[in-house]
Amino acid sequence: MTIKNKLRAGFSFLFVLALLCCGLSIYFLNRLSADAKDILKDNYKSVQFTKDMGVAIDASPGILTPQQAKIIEENLVKEEHNITEPGEGRLTDSLRAEYERLKQVQNDPAKITLLHSDIKRLLYGIMQLNMNAIIHKDTMAKATANRAILLVAFVATFLFLVAFSFVVNFPSYIANPLKELTEKIKEVSKRNYRQQLDFTSNDEFGELARAFNTMTIKLDEYENSNLASILFEKKRIETIINSMQDAIVGLDEKSFIIFVNQVACTLIGMSEQNLTGRYAPDIALENDLMRNLLVNDQPKMKIYADNRESYYSKAVLSILSKDIVIGSVIILKNITEFQQMDEAKTNFIATISHELKTPISSIKMSLKLLEDSRIGEVNTEQRQLLENIDEDAHRLLQITTELLDMAQVETGKLHLNFGNTHPRNIVDYTVKALKTTAEQKQIEINVQCDENLPDVHADLDKSTWVLINLLSNAIKYSHEKSVIDLTVKKRQADEIEFSVRDHGRGIDQQYLSRIFDRYFKIPGTNTDQPGTGLGLAIAKDFIEAQAGKIGVESEIGEGSRFYFTLKIIGRQS
Ligand code: ADP
Repeated sequence: MTIKNKLRAGFSFLFVLALLCCGLSIYFLNRLSADAKDILKDNYKSVQFTKDMGVAIDASPGILTPQQAKIIEENLVKEEHNITEPGEGRLTDSLRAEYERLKQVQNDPAKITLLHSDIKRLLYGIMQLNMNAIIHKDTMAKATANRAILLVAFVATFLFLVAFSFVVNFPSYIANPLKELTEKIKEVSKRNYRQQLDFTSNDEFGELARAFNTMTIKLDEYENSNLASILFEKKRIETIINSMQDAIVGLDEKSFIIFVNQVACTLIGMSEQNLTGRYAPDIALENDLMRNLLVNDQPKMKIYADNRESYYSKAVLSILSKDIVIGSVIILKNITEFQQMDEAKTNFIATISHELKTPISSIKMSLKLLEDSRIGEVNTEQRQLLENIDEDAHRLLQITTELLDMAQVETGKLHLNFGNTHPRNIVDYTVKALKTTAEQKQIEINVQCDENLPDVHADLDKSTWVLINLLSNAIKYSHEKSVIDLTVKKRQADEIEFSVRDHGRGIDQQYLSRIFDRYFKIPGTNTDQPGTGLGLAIAKDFIEAQAGKIGVESEIGEGSRFYFTLKIIGRQS
């Protein structure tokens, strides 16, 4: 039976019992009232009639006065109409006969006295009969009342017991399963899915238990299958990480090591067991490589491990979950082979460019001689050809010089000749060198350089080379008849900033970060402009070697501003 029906039945039962109790009470009250009415109507009135007649008889021991006769007559008639007890009719009839005789013998005192006592005896008899009946009926009414009290008390007690057991048992009948269900749900919320309810009833709780049990079984199955697949995936990722040639260290958001692969263990010189789960900064205190991994932000590092020196590039990837950093992965890529190849390439370039410089210089020298009229006259076409050769030789020399400079920087053979010089010298030399080129495009170079600026402590040649490079780029990428601002100003207490601002085509934001990379040229824009893509890279090396900074701000269509800083004399660190 469902709980709903059980409740209905329980309450109906109580209601019926309460009704029964009320019904019984009403019934017995009615019966008692009827008994009382009977006593009053049947017997009490007869007693009253006989008493009135007795009083009237006693009041006239001799002849009946009309007044007394009337009272007796009236009460006798009433009594004759109120015969209720067995024998009462006979006594009343005798009373009537004696009374009639009394009326006849009014002149005979002896007979009157005799009849008086007969009548009194009969009146007493009737009265006694009714009194007995009253006592009897009273006893009966008392018995009925007792029975009623007993019965109603019995029904009320039963009703009370039922209601009491209902009050005691019903709350726990509802609350106990709910309590058990709540506890199981709490367990489920702790991912403890092996919970079962054992309500076997056929009511709503039974149904609820069956649904709950099915749910927990399904959750358990799901959890197990999930766990299995997560473990499988974990194993697979561990295998992949371990089979990689790069060293990999995984850290959680609090810098505790979550995983390390075999290569990382070899490089760090510690076993996986000694690394996993430990706080990385603690290991860094006793391990140089770990310290470098955590602190050093240089992308390339030289590591001595396995009895040889190797080069590694470091990359740190932040692991994000919903924009929150939940850890990081440090990857050390073995770039020894590339490093060796790069060194070979640099040496090769250095050798070639060095070797090329001599023949190119001699070509230029020969061209100068050919241009000299003392050697012999050349016609217009030949002069044009000679000019072309001179231009190409000049460009070739420039490229070779750039390549040599770059090779020198890369091999660490860059020599700086520091000296103190006024920024104006660098600017003047630059503007002079590119005056003709600017004029060819009718570009105005607007120089702003305060004479009161302090001297800079720099390599004059290399710094001038950088400014020439920036200005020559600005001219190259400016429209004809435009203006280029060459500004020199004090930027910080110890720095002078040189900036070249053009109003040319500008540089797309996506290329700004790569513009100082070697051989980088903006794709698709340099078809008409010759160049190696080395100028800015070498400029960066030259400036940074002098503890300066170099940078660019640019907006496509608006032009670019290239700038670099040099240290003020006496302030350099
Ligand atoms: P290049 O010798 O090819 O000019 P650079 O290193 O000097 O090499 O410059 C790299 C690239 O940066 C150029 O190829 C050009 O695309 C871009 N670039 C340099 N300066 C400017 C400038 N002022 N305006 C627009 N693009 C420029």
